[in-house]
Amino acid sequence: MSKLIGIDLGTTNSCVAVMERGECVVIPNESGDRTTPSVVAFTKEGERLVGKAAKHQAVINPQRTISSIKRDMGSDKKISIDSKKYTPQEISAMILSKLKTDAENFLGERVSDAVITVPAYFTDAQRQATKDAGTIAGLNVRRIINEPTAAALAYGVDKEEPQKILVYDLGGGTFDVSVLDINGGVIEVLATAGNNRLGGDDFDDALTDYIIDEFKNQSGLDARRDITALSRIKEAAEKAKIELSSMTQTEINLPFLMQKKDGPVHLEMSVTRAKFNSLTSHLVEATMGPTHQALADAGLIPQNISKVLMVGGSSRIPAVQDAVRNFIGKEPFKGINPDECVAMGAALQGGVLSGDITGLLLLDVTPLSLGIETAGGIFSKIIDRNTTLPIKRSEIYTTAANFQTSVDVKVFQGERQMTADNKLLGEFHLSGIKRALRGVPQIEVTFEIDANGIVHVTARDLGTGKSQDITITASSNLSKEEIDKAIADARIYEEEDKKRKAEANAANEIDQLLFRASNIMKRLNKEDKKRLDEACKRVNKLKKSKNAAERAEAITELERIVTQMEATVENNAPRNGTGEENGNFGQGENGANDDGSVNSDFKD
Ligand code: AMP
Repeated sequence: MSKLIGIDLGTTNSCVAVMERGECVVIPNESGDRTTPSVVAFTKEGERLVGKAAKHQAVINPQRTISSIKRDMGSDKKISIDSKKYTPQEISAMILSKLKTDAENFLGERVSDAVITVPAYFTDAQRQATKDAGTIAGLNVRRIINEPTAAALAYGVDKEEPQKILVYDLGGGTFDVSVLDINGGVIEVLATAGNNRLGGDDFDDALTDYIIDEFKNQSGLDARRDITALSRIKEAAEKAKIELSSMTQTEINLPFLMQKKDGPVHLEMSVTRAKFNSLTSHLVEATMGPTHQALADAGLIPQNISKVLMVGGSSRIPAVQDAVRNFIGKEPFKGINPDECVAMGAALQGGVLSGDITGLLLLDVTPLSLGIETAGGIFSKIIDRNTTLPIKRSEIYTTAANFQTSVDVKVFQGERQMTADNKLLGEFHLSGIKRALRGVPQIEVTFEIDANGIVHVTARDLGTGKSQDITITASSNLSKEEIDKAIADARIYEEEDKKRKAEANAANEIDQLLFRASNIMKRLNKEDKKRLDEACKRVNKLKKSKNAAERAEAITELERIVTQMEATVENNAPRNGTGEENGNFGQGENGANDDGSVNSDFKD
């Protein structure tokens, strides 16, 4: 069997590792570096560059250089270069392809299988896109695993006593924080939070701005107007930032940076760690909000955390480590290179899959709740947010209208109570349902999410055995911000949503009562029929009323009458009533919804 590699396909940098004789080895690229910039460029001469070479020419070739493609994974964005359009999957595949080639050169043999990591909050569509990118690169993607889970594996915490750990991952362009539960070789992601627009690049920018301002004060020259000078300062800023992680002061020397009438101007200055800290304290602070959030979402306090794992190159910044130490009250773990531990964890998972390592199971979670739309636009949750994967769960639904022979299964993702406020992931049609009165057919809807987080939904009419299914690979997926917003909105609109759900429930209840009334109407004597008809009309009239109390009172009254008359009809034989028309129900008659969507609605 050919080698199975573990790939950390990062926003800024990627890394690849492999298990060799029971040891996890990070594979250097052709330049000897252990990480490779996730950058792709197309030169004007038609050459394709990937990695360091692409990053180096980015400033002079910005239109044809693609960075941070990971942010677009799963979207339908296209990148146009010359007359050709590339999908994010294709660009990511170019990076994966390079990593595969580097691995093959290092190992001296063909590589066909891989485990690739993704952020824990990636939606199914983003995971599917990552898998597709691997396939395009000629890799058989055996597993997609969550980055914090991979980090935990690399640190070997799965073998320790049961505990809760925090994974703080600050990379070049993204920040993710996750809380994991480790128990008996099982790793479960309890909660995740973060900011996918915050990372080491922001620290570079803050220092770059400072250097440019200082240089302007000294020389009167504005380096922002000179693309070459700007690019040299940016590079120097990142270098200085990295040096300030191990030194308290560093020198920046950029000879011949710009030109004045009387000759060249050189930049020479020193920057202290204290100055760097003051320039970037707001960035460090910005990581603490999501850290608090993840802990709160997991229902924990800092004292419950037994270990903090530092991941991502920027977690080496001393002020970042201080902030985490102060919050959790423990020294962060730094045993493994923070920019390599995710790839190492992926390689270890590869070892599990190929049978080299035993006794380890991986569990991940759904980032948002999943469910379907039922009558009145109510979101019926089938799988809750943060449920451990893989998962399979079924619910039984029924039809909303008489003799309804088909249903539209609309799959939504989100935290709000009405589907209109959530995200439609996909839909399909189940037809061939046996003709029956509303409420009689039993339709089983099953959600299955595999270990890679890919969603499969099936609807089956238990009466006929007919079924229909869908695998969600929708391009209309959610970004990290959208997920955070969905969760925040659900909190903000909780009260309002409750009201809207109550309205929709009341409308459904009315339909149900009118339906029961219509069933017995023909079997009633004239007097009872009149009484029931009046109660139905009153309810119908109040259906849209803002006066919830009056409407509730009318519903209760109708319920009482219907129940009473159903009992009378049951007890009376021979039955009353002969072939008269149904009562005059007006809107909602025979269970139709006001929007006329009877054939597309489910009932709980
Ligand atoms: P990653 O995406 O995990 O590879 O992280 C890349 C980011 O980490 C870049 O912004 C680097 O400048 C930054 N980085 C790498 N090493 C250090 C260091 N020693 N101190 C501060 N930042 C670093």
